[in-house]
Amino acid sequence: MAELQELMDQLNEAQREAVLENSHPLLVLAGAGSGKTRVITTKIAYAIEQLGIPPYKILAVTFTNKAANEMKERVGEMLEGRSDVNDCNIRTFHSFGAWFLRRFGSEIGLDSNFTIYDDNDSLSLLASCFPNYKKRELDPIMRKISYAKDRGLTYTDNLQSLKVDSTFKRMFEAYERKLHQVGNVDFADLIGRSIELLETKSEIQQWVHRRFSMILVDEYQDSNAAQFKLLHRLVGPSTFICVVGDDDQSIYRFRGAEVQNILSFPDQYPMARTVKLEQNYRSTQNILEIANSVIKNNKGRHEKQLWTANRKGGKPHLSYVQDEQDEALRIATIVKKDRRFNESAILYRTNAQSVAFETMFKRAGIPYKVVGALQFYEREEVKDALALLFLLTNTKDEVNFKRMINKPARGIGPGSQDTILAYGPEANGDLLAMLRLATEKNGLSNKAREGAKHFLRMYEHAQKMLQEGELVDCAYFLIRESGLLDYYRKLDQQNTTAKVENLEALVNALSSYESSLEGLLLFLEQLSLDPTTLGQEDPRDKDGVTLITMHNTKGLEFDRVFVAGLEDELFPGRSVESDEDIEEERRIFYVAVTRAREELYLLSASARKIWGKTSYNHPSRFLDEIDPSLLTVQGIRPGTDSGGFGYQGLSSLQEKRKRHDAASPSRSSSSSWGASGAPIIQKGFGSKAKTFTMKTVHEAKEGEPLFPVGQRVYSDSYGEGEVITLRMSGDREVIEVRFFNGKKTTFISKFAQLEKI
Ligand code: ATP
Ligand code: MG
Repeated sequence: MAELQELMDQLNEAQREAVLENSHPLLVLAGAGSGKTRVITTKIAYAIEQLGIPPYKILAVTFTNKAANEMKERVGEMLEGRSDVNDCNIRTFHSFGAWFLRRFGSEIGLDSNFTIYDDNDSLSLLASCFPNYKKRELDPIMRKISYAKDRGLTYTDNLQSLKVDSTFKRMFEAYERKLHQVGNVDFADLIGRSIELLETKSEIQQWVHRRFSMILVDEYQDSNAAQFKLLHRLVGPSTFICVVGDDDQSIYRFRGAEVQNILSFPDQYPMARTVKLEQNYRSTQNILEIANSVIKNNKGRHEKQLWTANRKGGKPHLSYVQDEQDEALRIATIVKKDRRFNESAILYRTNAQSVAFETMFKRAGIPYKVVGALQFYEREEVKDALALLFLLTNTKDEVNFKRMINKPARGIGPGSQDTILAYGPEANGDLLAMLRLATEKNGLSNKAREGAKHFLRMYEHAQKMLQEGELVDCAYFLIRESGLLDYYRKLDQQNTTAKVENLEALVNALSSYESSLEGLLLFLEQLSLDPTTLGQEDPRDKDGVTLITMHNTKGLEFDRVFVAGLEDELFPGRSVESDEDIEEERRIFYVAVTRAREELYLLSASARKIWGKTSYNHPSRFLDEIDPSLLTVQGIRPGTDSGGFGYQGLSSLQEKRKRHDAASPSRSSSSSWGASGAPIIQKGFGSKAKTFTMKTVHEAKEGEPLFPVGQRVYSDSYGEGEVITLRMSGDREVIEVRFFNGKKTTFISKFAQLEKI
C-alpha cells in the first residue's frame, strides 16, 4: 500500500486543503486536469486510513461506468492490500439508484426483480400504448418524456417550460402508468423513484443517513435536476458532502444537466467551503493555451486562471484535409511512424465518424479500439436472448414478450397478439396466464394456438429449471427451444456472420453468476447498467488507438490527441443556433483539447461523407478563435485565395460543387450528420465476446478463508446476512449465507456478489 503520507505529499497546497476539509460541505471548482479526481480518490484513502471511516460508509458517485471503474482502480491501488477496499460504494448515479431500489423499492410497490428499460425498450412501451403511431413519430416524444423525467418533472407538473401540448401530457401519463403496471423502471426512474422513496419513507432516509457518512461526487457540473435532488436527500445532518467539477466542462445540457447545480452549491449548503485548483498537471503550456483561448469566448462562465508548470511542448498542429479518408490517412501516417498506438486517441463529435478510421486502420494494420460504439449488448441476437431472460424474471414484461412471442415466426401475428393481450385484466397482467387463457378459449387460429402452447410450455419448463438452480442450462434451453438458435445459425451460414457465437458468449457470461433467479437478476441488472459486463474484453485493456466521442472522454487523458472533424455543421453541429448552444459546443471543444498531455492535432476536412451523402463545410468557427501563432498549420484552408479549396485529386464534379457551395450564402449544402446534431451516445464496449470477467472477483490470501463463518455480509439482492457454513468443493470455497430476510443461499466465495460489512 502506498503510504498515506506519500499520497498527501504528492498534492499541492490547495489539493491538500481539499483533502483535509472533512467537516464542512466542500465544493472543488476547478479547470481541466487540475487534479479534481485525484482529490476525490485521495480523500477516500484519507477517510479510510486517517479518519477510520469504514469503506462501506463511503459513497462516491461518478458520471460514467468507465469513470467509476477507473476510480475503483485508483482507490484500489492507493489502498492495495486492504481487503475491504471493494466495499467502497463507487458508482454512477444510475447504478446507485438500482442498488437502492432493489433493496428498498418494495416499500413503494416496486417488485425487487424489476427490469431496467433502456431507451429502445421505453420507446416500445410507449408504442404499445399508442399503436396507431409510428415509432419514428413517438421517438421525439419519448425523448421529451425522458428529458422531463431527468429534470425531476412528472405529468402532473406544470410542463410549460418544455413547450408541450395536452397530447404530450396524455402520452406521458399513459407511458408512466404502463411502466408502473408492468413493474419495471426506465433510466430516469432509477433516480426519480429513489427520490420518491427517500421523500416518502423517513425510516429509509434515516437508514441512508446512517449508512453513508461521506458522499463524494465527481463531474458534478453534469448532474441533472433529478440527480441534484437525489443527492440532497441522501445527505443527512452528519453526512460529509463533497462535490467537484468544472463549469467549463458541462456538456450534457441536452440531457437536462444544469450547470447551475454546481454554481449554486454554496447557496444550497450555506456552511460550504469552496476550494479552487488552478494548476493544471496534465497538458503542456501550448496545449493549455489553445484550450484557454477558445473557452474564454464563453460569456456565462466562472473566470478561472488555469496555468501549468509543465514544459511548453511542441506546437499543436492544425491540418486542413480533403475529406474523411484523407483525415484518416493523415492520422494513420502519424501513428504508424512511432507506433505509440496506446498513447493516441482520436476524438470525434458523432459516432458515425468512427467508420472512416476503422476502415483505414484495418487496411493499414493499425490496432484500435472503439469506445462506446456498436455493442455486443445492442446486437439483435443478444437483445433477443436477453428478452427471453427478462421475460423469465418478470412475466409481466410486455415489451420483451412482444419482441419474442413471434420471433422466430410461430404464427402469432399482431392480431393474435391482441387476442392474447386482451386477457390482461383477467390474468392480472401476467403474460403466461394470458397465454394460458388464450389457448384454452376460442379466438386463436390453430397455428397461433399451437405456437402459443409451445411458448407457454417452454416457459413453464424454463421456470422449473431455474427453480432447480440450472441457470445456464435454462438459458440455453430457452435460446434453443424458442428456435432462436436455428434461426441465427441459418443467418450465419447465409451471411457469414457470428451471431451464434454471440449467443454462446451470452450463455457463457451467465456461467459466472450464481445459479439461481437472484444470479440471473444480478446479471441482467449489471448488464442494463453497464454493458461492458458482457464484453469479454474491456476495451481499455486492448492495445491500440482509442476511437472515442468527445462526450465519452470526460475525465480521461492521453499523451496524443487528434480532434477530428473540426467543421461547422458538424462541430459546432447543425442544429446549434442559440448562443447557449454555441457555448455548450465550445465547452465540448474545451473538454476535447484538454484531454491531451503532450501532443495535439486538430483536423478539418473540406468535404465529408457520412451515411452516403457528401457535404462541404467551412472550418469550425472555433478554429478562428485560436491565435494562428499558436499552431503549426498544414494544408490550405478552404476558401482562401491561394487555391480555393486547394486540393488535388478531386473529380471535377466535386470541385464544381465546392465552388458552388463556397459561393452560396448558406453555410452548407447537404449536411447529413446526426439529425439533431445531438451527440449519439451509446453504451458500449468491444465487439466480440468470448471470455468474461466478473465485476467483483475476491482474491484469497494463502490459507485464509475469503468469507469466514460468522462474517456479516451485504448482498444487493438479499440485503444483510451472515455466513453460516463454509466448505470446499474441489478447490472452490463455497459458503452458505443466512440473510436477515429469512432466505438462505449458497455462493462460490470467489465470485460472490457480497460485501463484507
Ligand atoms: P478533468 O477535469 O479532466 O476531470 P481533473 O481535474 O479530474 O481533470 P485529474 O484527472 O485528477 O484532473 O488529474 C490530471 C492529471 O494530473 C492526472 O494525471 C493526475 O495524476 C495529475 N495530477 C493531479 N494532481 C497532481 C499533483 N499534485 N502532482 C502531480 N500530478 C498531479
Ligand atoms: Mg476528473
